[in-house]
Amino acid sequence: MIRSVVIVGGGTAGWMTATYLKATFGDRVRVTLVESARVPTIGVGEATFSTVRHFFDYLGLAEEEWMPACNASYKLAIRFENWRGNGEHFYHPFERLRTADGFTLADWWLRLGPHERRFDESCYVLPALCEAKRAPKHLDGTLFERSLHDGGDRARRTTMFQQDTQFPYAYHFDAALLAEFLALHGADLGVRRVLDDVVEVRRDERGDISEVVTWEHGALTGDLYVDCTGFRGLLVNKTLEEPFESYQDVLPNDRAVALRVPVDGAQDGMAPYTTATARDAGWIWTIPLYGRIGTGYVYASDFCTPEEAEAELRAFVGPRAADAEANHIRMRVGRNRRSWVRNCVAIGLSSGFVEPLESTGIFFIQHGIEQLVRHWPDRADDPHLARGYNESVARCLDGVREFLVLHYKAATRNDTPYWKATEERALPDGMAERLQLWESRLPSDSSVHPYYHGFEPYSYAVMLLGLGRPPKHPHPALGLLDPGAARAAFAEVRREAERLVAALPGQYEYLTHRMR
Ligand code: FAD
Repeated sequence: MIRSVVIVGGGTAGWMTATYLKATFGDRVRVTLVESARVPTIGVGEATFSTVRHFFDYLGLAEEEWMPACNASYKLAIRFENWRGNGEHFYHPFERLRTADGFTLADWWLRLGPHERRFDESCYVLPALCEAKRAPKHLDGTLFERSLHDGGDRARRTTMFQQDTQFPYAYHFDAALLAEFLALHGADLGVRRVLDDVVEVRRDERGDISEVVTWEHGALTGDLYVDCTGFRGLLVNKTLEEPFESYQDVLPNDRAVALRVPVDGAQDGMAPYTTATARDAGWIWTIPLYGRIGTGYVYASDFCTPEEAEAELRAFVGPRAADAEANHIRMRVGRNRRSWVRNCVAIGLSSGFVEPLESTGIFFIQHGIEQLVRHWPDRADDPHLARGYNESVARCLDGVREFLVLHYKAATRNDTPYWKATEERALPDGMAERLQLWESRLPSDSSVHPYYHGFEPYSYAVMLLGLGRPPKHPHPALGLLDPGAARAAFAEVRREAERLVAALPGQYEYLTHRMR
């Protein structure tokens, strides 16, 4: 049996893994986490995916406990700006498409055009809440959508695989504060924290890891080792020599520069969404937290230097950024051939990473941890369990890669060398066929990447319509149907959006009232 786990690395991945394992196994498994005071964490990773609420529920942490400690806010959508090169925007919301007479409102929207209102405003309620900077909850703490579970699943301890509805929000938070918060919570749960550098990783005669040697605390041993050392991959790549397979042929962005910028929420309000603004050689994220924004330019070094990127980011943010220190980051984009190798499992950036366009880094961590518990071995190097684990991790990352490639393929910008190059770039295997299908029909369960990767067909439809690549013709069957039910459904969306905008508090007001 696996009775002791050694985690190397104390970033978001390390602390999420340590607390989750302790919350699962309690005293039956010893967890030691060693983190360096000298090697910094990546310092970004502030926007999340709606499944993340299962993580907090699983740990038994209420929003009122952890959100204020991490300057957290709600995220209802991602707002894409200027991806057509004409200043327009649209939202990718955490909301499934409604249907009328068996067809999605997106299909009906295409059929009933031309329209005065954008596709996302017509089919969804959440974009109106985003524009009005509303919180997803009433001031008494109840969720606006009463039919959904509101973080009340702590007793059932659900995982992301049991998310049968599309929960309407995720969070933004300060990644460093979250790691600190989880470290304190981990101490309560019994995680042993060692503040030290791992200077050597030793292997036994079979090739398994036998101990990690620290500078001041000697050797640490465990039955299972978890590599959370970030892009370094100290255990999985450097020691076990597992190859890293790059995605850069299809996703060329390999660098980022990030800033932390103070804001006055009382004056400006607080947007409940992440913004991704297309720029000349990549895109800029804007993540509103309580008291500041996190912002950064993700770009391809083939088209832009770090100095140019920083200058562009500072010009974009304006004078508020004058005193902010820039964090320049090289990104390792792709995944390990295997993330579980021998008695070592890599979780977080050491396992794989795609650029943060759909905020999937922390989602991958949560997915990795949940899969680890599902595949928990009685021997650390059980090849069958490791194979199952590796397949699901690889498929998840490959699926997200494909979804992100779609963002660039479908974007109708071609005004700079960077955007022109997106037209020529290679596609992941199988994607060309799927793109062809989407020229005739909006994506469906049977025409998107076939393995779990967090994104449903509606997300693909949103990107195709938002970016300006709808199917060539509306669905012909709809021309033979009475559009009455669809028109009523569009009217209902509009009424609901207006009612909620009037009834819900602003996000800044909500957070100040409930969480401070
Ligand atoms: P790190 O934060 O790099 O932590 C590595 C840890 O290993 C540190 O504690 C370090 O001290 C320790 N360590 C290293 N070497 C040693 C050693 N020898 N001995 C002891 N300890 C050691 N994800 C999202 O979900 N949403 C986002 O919006 C998002 N934005 C991102 C933007 C960018 C530009 C990048 C690059 C990533 C982004 N991510 C995002 C991903 C997210 O940042 C990471 O998934 C997350 O922070 C986890 O990082 P980590 O813990 O794997 O690595």
